Amino acid sequence: MAPTPRDILHSVFGYQGFRGQQEAVVAHVVAGGDALVLMPTGGGKSLCYQVPALARAGTGIVISPLIALMHDQVEALRQNGVRAACLNSTLGLEEVRATEQALLRGELDLLYMAPERLVTERTLDLLGRTRLSLFAIDEAHCVSQWGHDFRPEYTQLGRLAERFAGVPRLALTATADEPTRRDIRTGLRLEQARAFIGGFDRPNIRYRIGQFPDARGALLRLIEDEHPRDAGIVYCLSRRKVEAMATWLQERGLRALPYHAGLPAETRRRHQERFLREDGVIIVATIAFGMGIDKPDVRFVAHLDLPKSIEAYYQETGRAGRDGLPATAWMAYGLQGVLTLRQLLEASTAEERHKAIERRKLEAMLGLCEITSCRRQALLHYFGDPLEAPCGNCDNCLEPPATWDGTLAAQQAMSAIYRTGQRFGVNYLIDVLRGSDNARIRDLGHDRLKVFGLGRDLAATSWRSVFRQLVARGLVSVDVEGHGSLHLTDAARPVLRGEETLQLRRDPAPGKRRRGERAAPPDETDRPLWDALRARRRELAAEQGVPPYMIFHDAVLMQMVEQRPRDLAQLARLDGVGERKLAQYGADFLAVLSAHEAPGAHR
Ligand code: ADP
Ligand code: ZN
Repeated sequence: MAPTPRDILHSVFGYQGFRGQQEAVVAHVVAGGDALVLMPTGGGKSLCYQVPALARAGTGIVISPLIALMHDQVEALRQNGVRAACLNSTLGLEEVRATEQALLRGELDLLYMAPERLVTERTLDLLGRTRLSLFAIDEAHCVSQWGHDFRPEYTQLGRLAERFAGVPRLALTATADEPTRRDIRTGLRLEQARAFIGGFDRPNIRYRIGQFPDARGALLRLIEDEHPRDAGIVYCLSRRKVEAMATWLQERGLRALPYHAGLPAETRRRHQERFLREDGVIIVATIAFGMGIDKPDVRFVAHLDLPKSIEAYYQETGRAGRDGLPATAWMAYGLQGVLTLRQLLEASTAEERHKAIERRKLEAMLGLCEITSCRRQALLHYFGDPLEAPCGNCDNCLEPPATWDGTLAAQQAMSAIYRTGQRFGVNYLIDVLRGSDNARIRDLGHDRLKVFGLGRDLAATSWRSVFRQLVARGLVSVDVEGHGSLHLTDAARPVLRGEETLQLRRDPAPGKRRRGERAAPPDETDRPLWDALRARRRELAAEQGVPPYMIFHDAVLMQMVEQRPRDLAQLARLDGVGERKLAQYGADFLAVLSAHEAPGAHR
């Protein structure tokens, strides 16, 4: 009898149960159905096609846009004893031929390739002579022009529907918005496919979004206090900032490496490699970094600039804590970031329909920053996967932010904008409000305005906070030319007239610290064992030329520390220990465990 999906999950992957929608997707595809799978990054999409490919006869074809990462995915599968291979342009002629032969002989469970190779007549012909179990189209949003990762080759994948009628097809993505979903259905000819949406919650990630006068310093404190020696990703918008940040962190003794599209390919490859293989490397990157990287033990993702949408934010933060252990998603933002994004958007030359969508996305993102209620509830609501109660694991839940009635301050700020002719930027307006003795103000006669000096009792930082929230909420807009001058919008009117009050977020005072839970080590007395297990893992990884997490995830090592398995049977019960890894590495880790057992100790 053929093994059931659950048998495969246990014996090959060593997992105790499916998560969320996985089981439903697997059953549907095993029965021959097409599927559209929408899950967040780290939600567990891979098992949705890997298990059916093993449960059905024939080879599963996985289409993935990033050649550089196929190798790692294939290696991780091989570690679990799965017969996986890839076909791509980095391989020599001999390797390609050997893989093709293996395919035709039915010796492959999974074969990865890039879309441009798949759609060549040669490959289609080869697949026509092969028994296929399924097609999995990963990062399926690449078919859409709305998305940020449009790949023209993806639009040709619709051809698979006719040419391989009867072979189930899955499209998988973490992108949630409607236009993209529609494009996936039509572009990939999956109009009839059943949609599976879910698992958007990532409960182990603690979301924190804050105002920091010194964002760089705040990030350094986060790393030193809560994530020393942890792997992390720091996102910045520009290449220049990436370089500067990486250098700055290096000067403070951290293993930080830059990554952006302007670096030579070889440098990028080396930095990514070190991030994957060494412990505790921090990558400072533009958004060019991360797609398809499934390093499970990234403990923090930090943003020093605002992402353009909640989708982008969720995808990037989703790279933290895929192993399910506590992880941090931290973001610093401020007035400047809000202004820059608004300006970029207004200055964009995209067509109006497209711009309207981008504007809504940006507004949702700014809304997430400014809300005073649970961040996770807001995020999950956005993705259509609502959460009943506040999560208890975001900054707003842990330390509910104070609010204040900012109606009067907002009226004063907006009146300063209006009275000075809607031609000035924030700093000038604050000078006017605070009654600064300033030659330019005198020359322009603004010291004679009623608003001059009206806001003396608020500090300049508080005024910046007021202006930021007015811009974020769309009561005030920024000019397109980039001079930073502010204007009132229609939304400002009710507040100016006193018909609406405005509750503003009180930004926390700088310098406040909080300690979070750490993923590892569990406790100081267990530290030697933890270190020894990690050291053994490093040795095994080096022998095999693979990243340490491919031997075992941190989560598995943590279970070893907690449960102290004494034999192979006990080891096999840990989540993440499949049959092949048990046979291959079980004895090695048991040896470390028994060497660390205190003589005569019984647990
Ligand atoms: P995605 O492709 O959706 O970003 P992955 O397929 O890489 O996510 O899965 C994320 C992580 O979760 C991986 O480390 C994977 O091993 C783990 N995982 C997925 N499904 C399960 C499960 N049912 N039980 C335990 N771990 C799982
Ligand atoms: Zn919360």
